[in-house]
Amino acid sequence: MQKFTFDKITNHLTTSGFVYPGSDIYGGLANSWDFGPLGTLLKNHIKTAFRDHFVRKNKNIVEIEPAIIMNTKVWETTGHVSNFHDPLIDCKNCHSRFRADELINSKDKDICCDGKSNEELSELIKTLDIACPECGKKDFTSIRQFQMMFKTFMGVTEEKSNIVYLRPETAQGIFVNFKNVMRSQRMKLPFGICDIGKAFRNEITPGNYIFRTREFEQMEIEFFYSPKDSFNYFNFFKEDCLKFLDELGLKKENLRYRDHAKEELAFYSEATTDIEYLYPFGWGELMGIASRTDYDLSRHGESSKEDLKYLDQETNEKFYPYVIEPSFGVERLMLAILCDSYDEEQLENDTRIVMHLNPKLAPYQVAVLPLSKQLAEEGEEVLSIINRRFDSVYDVTGSIGKRYRREDAIGTPFCVTIDFDTKEDKCVTVRERDSMKQERVKISSLCEYIQNKIESME
Ligand code: ATP
Repeated sequence: MQKFTFDKITNHLTTSGFVYPGSDIYGGLANSWDFGPLGTLLKNHIKTAFRDHFVRKNKNIVEIEPAIIMNTKVWETTGHVSNFHDPLIDCKNCHSRFRADELINSKDKDICCDGKSNEELSELIKTLDIACPECGKKDFTSIRQFQMMFKTFMGVTEEKSNIVYLRPETAQGIFVNFKNVMRSQRMKLPFGICDIGKAFRNEITPGNYIFRTREFEQMEIEFFYSPKDSFNYFNFFKEDCLKFLDELGLKKENLRYRDHAKEELAFYSEATTDIEYLYPFGWGELMGIASRTDYDLSRHGESSKEDLKYLDQETNEKFYPYVIEPSFGVERLMLAILCDSYDEEQLENDTRIVMHLNPKLAPYQVAVLPLSKQLAEEGEEVLSIINRRFDSVYDVTGSIGKRYRREDAIGTPFCVTIDFDTKEDKCVTVRERDSMKQERVKISSLCEYIQNKIESME
């Protein structure tokens, strides 16, 4: 169980500037969220950490940025146009809308709904005697399949031939660029391509704050290898993804693997494992690792008539590589990080909210706090030294105690205080967020001091 309620954490995130309700001044737009200054910094730091771990430190993984709107043939080929559906069901009495599979799993989480027909799902709802969670009545409509891709038109006329879709995943931009990347970058198997960017799904039941939204960001890698290669890349990525989450500071006890059962797997998939996080509302999928064989490349190869096979220069063999796909949602990872780090500590005279964020993820690594407005000149000077190296914030308002609390509550690991002695001794006081310990440090060695501290905390 999480220590704090979801409401408590999300209120804090909204009021402190991580996440705002979308289109707020117009009464909002259901389940849409905007990221404030702190949320934007945190998201950027998450993406940097992901790039660092998976791309920058791997000489055989490169990143690309494909377009969000792609040729409609991409989605026809992958089966998204015909199959990217969710089973929709309505309560006839109160008109609440549900996903049939979610209704069934709320009663029995072990039933696998994937691959079941509308009739089979309706039958299960009857057999399990499921009532509407809103009004308690047991009178549902029949199930309809609901297309989850957002549709729009490209060009000046709204006709069928101009229909395009907003991508529901970043992965396909990688597959369609496989040949371009392989040729232009002279990539040799095994190698990976990463894509970080927006994806859109017209979810039937968005909710739980930023956990399930209709617009979100994904960080995906397609890692290509020869089917004859005996190395177990699936297990490697399973372990490596967990290692990445561990490095970010997520608590081990709040993470678990969920291997998909055989019946849950798509017909082409050899294995899929989710890493789940214990959110305050229960366990939920944070990311997934899928072994997708040569399904995507061979489908695109056949459909586009382009040769997407790999030529092994040594053996002269041509084949479609197999692929392992680790896929993270930025917002789900962000939410896990925020829930994991939120804490309330009882001090002698009050309680402090403190976010124990990993310094490399914290929106600001350093807060520069001159004790008095008369120290503005010294303050600005210290800020200009600090903000060349670290994300920093400058705050001169309120008592120093209040300013420390403000920084604790948004996870700033270091506060640098400038006082009247600074003019004489060219030193500042550095206060650490977690221990609240203070140390006097020379301005000339301040950046190095903070850098060393950050490295020791990682
Ligand atoms: P779920 O079962 O929760 O709908 P999924 O299995 O459909 O998720 P994938 O298609 O595997 O999700 O997408 C990969 C990752 O993208 C997910 O693990 C999640 O982190 C993120 N993601 C997917 N859908 C959403 C969404 N609607 N809102 C936010 N993040 C999402």
